[in-house]
Amino acid sequence: MTVMTVDEKEREFPTDPIQEHNERLSDYLRDLEFEQMSAQQILRWASETFSGRAVINTSFQHTGTTMIHMAVTEGLALRFATLDTLRLHPETYAFIDEVQSRYDCEIEIMQPKSGDVQRMVERHGEYLFFDSKEKQEHCCQVRKDWSNNALLKTADCWISGQRWDQSEYRKQTAQKAVLIDEYGTRRKVLKLNPLVDWDDEKLQDFIAEQNVLVHPLYGQGYPSFGCVTCATPIRPGESKRAGRWRWFNAQHEGGDDPKECGLHYNI
Ligand code: SF4
Repeated sequence: MTVMTVDEKEREFPTDPIQEHNERLSDYLRDLEFEQMSAQQILRWASETFSGRAVINTSFQHTGTTMIHMAVTEGLALRFATLDTLRLHPETYAFIDEVQSRYDCEIEIMQPKSGDVQRMVERHGEYLFFDSKEKQEHCCQVRKDWSNNALLKTADCWISGQRWDQSEYRKQTAQKAVLIDEYGTRRKVLKLNPLVDWDDEKLQDFIAEQNVLVHPLYGQGYPSFGCVTCATPIRPGESKRAGRWRWFNAQHEGGDDPKECGLHYNI
């Protein structure tokens, strides 16, 4: 298991100048019909095109394990990574070991810098996310987004498991392929969502047919999970994201609450 903090993550900068790199990614978007490609076709293409600079970043929900399964089964040259907020469920830490063992693969584990977390806790308290949406987003930034930014500095292609039927916000914003800005630079990163058009039924059928490894929290009523403090199971009839930051639900009754941590904003 490779565990890295934001500081330690080795940066492998692209050899081509930023302008050329960005144009190359733009050409892919212009020339390839990503929306018509299957998930397997997209993963194969990313493996062949980016050679070690395409990474599936997953929190081990169904989409992530399904893509790891596809990649390993086909012998693709994709990297696998996860963001360890230092507040994950114990089941998730155990599941990381299980995935590595079952698929004989390495998961890159990105952790926040301890100094960053310590400063945030000293200033705002351990449970700042209960105070306001702004403080919750700040906590997600320090524990998650900054690690993701560090990870993306080592990649040209970020493969994510967003799906349209996870929330209204994702239905309106997620695409199979989109260019995003690397944090703090002009360099672009190609973000792929190979399963964006898969619904629950298709995903469940694939998992059952292929015997994909399933995170144990699904069996405890969690349709979505992240940190142990901020994710809860849902009741029948509730939306899939209702269990995330549940104390904010009342503020968004009937509204369009994106319920996002910030990783997928503005893209
Ligand atoms: S999910 Fe909660 S504890 Fe985890 S990073 Fe976000 S606000 Fe912080």
